[in-house]
Amino acid sequence: MTGDRSETIETMRERYLHEYRYIHKKADRIAFFEEIGDMAAEAGASAWKRFADGMSASLREDMEGALAFFEEALALDPQNAYAWYGKGSVLREQKRYDEALAAYEKAISLDPEFAAPWYGKGTVAQSQKRYDEALAAYEKAVSLDPEFAYPWYGKGNILRAEGRYDEALAAFEKAITLDPQFAAPWNGKGNVLCDQKRYDEALAAYEKTIAIDPERGAPWYGKGNILRAEGRYDEALPAYEKAIALDPESAAPHYGLGALLWLQGRPRESAEAFRRAIELGLESPWKEAAESWIERAERMIKSKEGGKPKEEREQADRSSDEALVTDLFEAMKDDLPGIRKKKMEFEKQIAESVGRSRIVGEAGADDMLLVLRDWNSFSPILRRELRGQGGPGPDERLGGGYFLVWKGHGVVIDPGVDFVTQLYRKGLSIADVDTVIVTHCHLDHTRDVESLVDMNYRYNQAKGFKPHPANDDFRQLQFRLCDSAFMKYSEYLKTSGCCRSPEQLVRGGNTNRITDFIDVEAVPAQHMDINGRDQEAIGLVFMLKDDTGPVMRVGITSDSKWIESLPKSFKGCDVVVAHLGTIEVGEEKAATAGKAGEAPDAGKDVNGGGFLKTDLKNHLGTKGCFRLLQHVKPKVFVIGEFGEELVETRFKIIQVFHRLKPQETRFVLGGDSNLAIGLGKELSVCCSHPECARSWTRIPLDQVRPVIGGDFLFQYICSQHGIA
Ligand SMILES: [Zn+2]
Ligand SMILES: [Zn+2]
Ligand SMILES: [Zn+2]
Repeated sequence: MTGDRSETIETMRERYLHEYRYIHKKADRIAFFEEIGDMAAEAGASAWKRFADGMSASLREDMEGALAFFEEALALDPQNAYAWYGKGSVLREQKRYDEALAAYEKAISLDPEFAAPWYGKGTVAQSQKRYDEALAAYEKAVSLDPEFAYPWYGKGNILRAEGRYDEALAAFEKAITLDPQFAAPWNGKGNVLCDQKRYDEALAAYEKTIAIDPERGAPWYGKGNILRAEGRYDEALPAYEKAIALDPESAAPHYGLGALLWLQGRPRESAEAFRRAIELGLESPWKEAAESWIERAERMIKSKEGGKPKEEREQADRSSDEALVTDLFEAMKDDLPGIRKKKMEFEKQIAESVGRSRIVGEAGADDMLLVLRDWNSFSPILRRELRGQGGPGPDERLGGGYFLVWKGHGVVIDPGVDFVTQLYRKGLSIADVDTVIVTHCHLDHTRDVESLVDMNYRYNQAKGFKPHPANDDFRQLQFRLCDSAFMKYSEYLKTSGCCRSPEQLVRGGNTNRITDFIDVEAVPAQHMDINGRDQEAIGLVFMLKDDTGPVMRVGITSDSKWIESLPKSFKGCDVVVAHLGTIEVGEEKAATAGKAGEAPDAGKDVNGGGFLKTDLKNHLGTKGCFRLLQHVKPKVFVIGEFGEELVETRFKIIQVFHRLKPQETRFVLGGDSNLAIGLGKELSVCCSHPECARSWTRIPLDQVRPVIGGDFLFQYICSQHGIA
């Protein structure tokens, strides 16, 4: 007897898995399960009997009854994957999605080869608009059972929702090939063709759907839409009516009918149809569009009743908000999912960007000075055509600033144009910025100050803090500003709600404490600032300490002409970053003609320059940089801020400097955006190879070999990435 029973069960299993899927008519499906039920009863396979009863009940749309049968089946045989699947499908039908997914998972765990629950999972994810997940589930079902048409149909629907029409069509075609009597993919094909405005082909696909399954409402709805779009209103009306008659609980045909009735000048009936669509659970954004249609129709009815002339009524209608909403929706309804998706992706990116977690202080991201500017001076503030693109050099020609990291604290120095871009390209974010210092008020040193403030504000919002009034919970940036920047920003920063009151950096004043381990001193510079004064700009000397005391000094001249006090200011610095500006080619006219009594040419010879003769008025130039190097003798000397005209020749300048450096100086390096100097008692340079970018691999100074990359920036490659 047991042998018979297990044979019967095997037969039922085979028939369910391989025969049932090709039966599409509801009555035939019910008959199939009644037959299976009889077989099971005869063989005494009670769990299978309950499973078959559950399937019949669900096909008769008795969902509660079906659920009870499946529960009974599972009480008899908890290992029955098919009963779990049946239960999942009823729960899905009832929109109890979490429970449905749990039942499908159970079915999968009991029978990993069973494709249907993967299809079920796909449909749940699809209902919840989690398209990537849905697609993955359908793919899995296809891989388990390549002959199974349903997951191909599911794939087609997702691809259509994502606007991938050609792929959607191919998926529907595949489903049709696997099972020519399966009507749904024909309808899906019609929908895609309709989206593509291939109306004749779409109509043919709908006709085919109707021929296979005359009980299905959806193709009639599709036909109605096309006939309405083509202005064949009299034909569209019976199509919608047929769709509603076959599928009275479906909201969409009522919506289509409402739109049609409006076009036929029947506002009262139109509003009625839209109301019915909403009652039946029309989803957003269709629901909002329907509400607007109703308002529009009611306005029209009112003005008609008020006896307003037709022209006046029409004008009032055209100028109403509702006309805009409904007409725009009709015109854009196919675009809305795409717009919505892009918007959500963008919002996600922004949230991810401002809400990133802190890296500074973690793993290798500590104790270093990052050059976050390509090489150039003010040119990034110019319009693109003037930045010398096309020639050698990185096309983007980004500006930026510097970023000093010491004992887990991040200090931004002069965040000019593109600083934020450069910071994020290094894998850092606003969460890594603690202090911002500004040395003078040229835009190539300040433009991203406000970007940083704004991003810190959004960072706080992303962390759930209330923005205003100035909130103590807010993560605050601290600012240290030169005179002109203090004048420009202090009120703004004080009221921003996310910045501590800025402190003024006084030239030659006392050292200013940034953290227990970082002091900064503002040293005199001379550079014509935006306010017309050339005595207010500052250079910076950082005194970096650890628990035991001073470790090293880092000096940044920022922009300054050569002045006699510079060597004293930067004395004892282990690293100096100097701004060169341009090269002294002396093309400007002599500042003064020859003094009285002298030959006119004599004055020109002294003051008018010529190659490398005069000092620059606003920057160190080569001579100023060279004197500073020779006096200070830092271990590492970095030359940055070159004029646009030096994009290629700066390499030669660096080479000559390196050759002529004093013995104490280990390296003269180009200050561009691939340079990150490892700080500490031993200096190093971080590998700029992309694979090392996030780990800040240190190259000891004696192994540093700068090479010029294709983007005309220096590259520093560790032994692992270099050619042996
Ligand atoms: Zn500058
Ligand atoms: Zn400047
Ligand atoms: Zn490397």
